[in-house]
Parts: sequence; structure tokens; C-alpha cells
Amino acid sequence: MKLELTNQVALVTGGSRGIGKDIAKKLASYGAYVLINYASNQEAAEETLGEIEQDGGSGRVVGFDVSDFDEVQRIVGELSNELNGIQILVNNAGIRNDGLLMRMGQEDWDRVMDINLKGTFNCTKAVCRGMFKNRYGRIVNIISAAGEAGNPGQANYSASKAAVIGFTKSTAKEFSPRGITVNAVSPGFVETDIIADLNEDMRKKYLEAIPLGRFGRVEDISGVVCFLISEGASYITGEVIRVNGGIYM
Ligand code: NAP
Repeated sequence: MKLELTNQVALVTGGSRGIGKDIAKKLASYGAYVLINYASNQEAAEETLGEIEQDGGSGRVVGFDVSDFDEVQRIVGELSNELNGIQILVNNAGIRNDGLLMRMGQEDWDRVMDINLKGTFNCTKAVCRGMFKNRYGRIVNIISAAGEAGNPGQANYSASKAAVIGFTKSTAKEFSPRGITVNAVSPGFVETDIIADLNEDMRKKYLEAIPLGRFGRVEDISGVVCFLISEGASYITGEVIRVNGGIYM
């Protein structure tokens, strides 16, 4: 895979932990200057930056809540001006707040939608003007198998991720004349904090449903994200790439 990202700036939302962390590290290893976004855990973001710098890469940590439209436009706008544009955006920040619909409150719905869906809109909006100007950009949105297949207890989460599929396809069509590709990566279960609350019974049940017989690793996802950013993927846009061990085909 040809991937030379020297002189390119990448913004990875939720780049401080889990899948986003591995994406940030991998992009930095290919030469990108990586903006590691976090919402509240600055220490984790600093740790990720430290690991990147130790490996010879560069970047900085940027704290903002992706769901805050004004804050995202201001901070990302300033960064884009200072760094002469942001060429790569990975909309990875996401949360779960599960519960059966009968018990799901308005706040449970709104918070998940605000971060997973509106956050993707906010960040895409903030970088696209610069990408248009430079007639180049790579955007990858992290969705979920739950957004494609549905899952009991995840009406809010799966709706937010399904909506990002529509957003991905619409923006791919809008942006393609400007040399910008927009794709989505759809993980199944990946070993990170977000699934740390699954009890042993649930883990066993889900494992049995995965044809490849294991949970995903962060590098399974980051490798595909890097491929979508590479020259080899320059003719791919508006796609959803499943990386789920076969749990949903
Ligand atoms: P994770 O380990 O819980 O990490 C979540 C990341 O998102 C953290 O860096 C967190 O930063 C950040 N974040 C949360 N709310 C934010 C906000 N409002 N603004 C900015 N950043 C925010 O999650 P993960 O498992 O790596 O998940 C990454 C993405 O993959 C998510 O979109 C998730 O839905 C998707 N996904 C994960 C799985 C899985 O099994 N792991 C499966 C399918 C899809 P702070 O620590 O500062 O809050």
C-alpha cells in the first residue's frame, strides 16, 4: 500500500483512546501531522501524542466536544488556517448509551445523536471549505455494524450510525468534483473501552456469532482507514467497508 502523508494534516476525532488512537498513530507513522482530538480525558490524548513522538511522528492534542457546532467551527477553523488546511478527517468520536426503547429517555437519545451524527456533520463542515479550496481531501466516517443490522437496546446508537451512512453517501456525491472522497468503515465488536461493560455471557454469545471467531482489534480498523486514505483507494467513494469478522454480511 502506497501511503506517504508527509506535509498532510489529519484530524482524528476521539483520537485519544481506542480505535481513534490506533488510527492517529498509524497516520503519524506514515508522516501525517496528527491532530488528536479528545473531549474530557486530556491525559489519554497526551499519552497518545507522547507515543507518536517517541516513534518519530508529530502532532498535537486538541480538546473539543464534537457536538458543539460553534466550538468545532472556531477551533478547527483556526487550526486549518494555521496549518494551511486539513487534508484528512477521520470522524471517529462516538459513544453508546444503551437501553430498551421503553426506558430510553430524551437525553439518552439526544446525546448519542449529538455526538455520533451531529459531531460528524460539525467536523465535516469545519474542514470541507479548506478541502474544496485545495481540491483534495480524504474523509473517513466510523460507523458500526449496529447501524446496518440494528441491535436491541441500541435504537439511538444504531440510528445515529445508520444516519452517518446517508451523510457519507450524500457528501461523497457533493464533494467528488473537488477531489474529495468520503467513505465509511463499519466495525463489528472491537476490544476497546466502549465494549468493556459486556459481561461474560454476552461476550460468549457475541463471539459465537462472529464467523472469524474473535473480536476485532484496533489495528483491524486502522489498517482499512489508512487504505481508504491511500492512493490505491482514490477511486473509492461513498462506500461502507465492513470490518466485522463476518458478524453482518
Ligand atoms: P472509546 O474507546 O470509548 O473511545 C472514544 C473516543 O471518543 C475517546 O477518544 C473519547 O474522548 C472520544 N469522545 C467521546 N465523546 C466525544 C465528544 N463529545 N467529542 C470528542 N471526542 C469524544 O471508543 P472506540 O471503541 O474506540 O470507538 C471509536 C468509534 O468506533 C466510535 O464511533 C464507535 O461508535 C465506533 N465503533 C466501535 C466499536 C467497538 O466495538 N469498539 C464497534 C463499532 C463501532 P474522551 O476520552 O476525552 O471522552
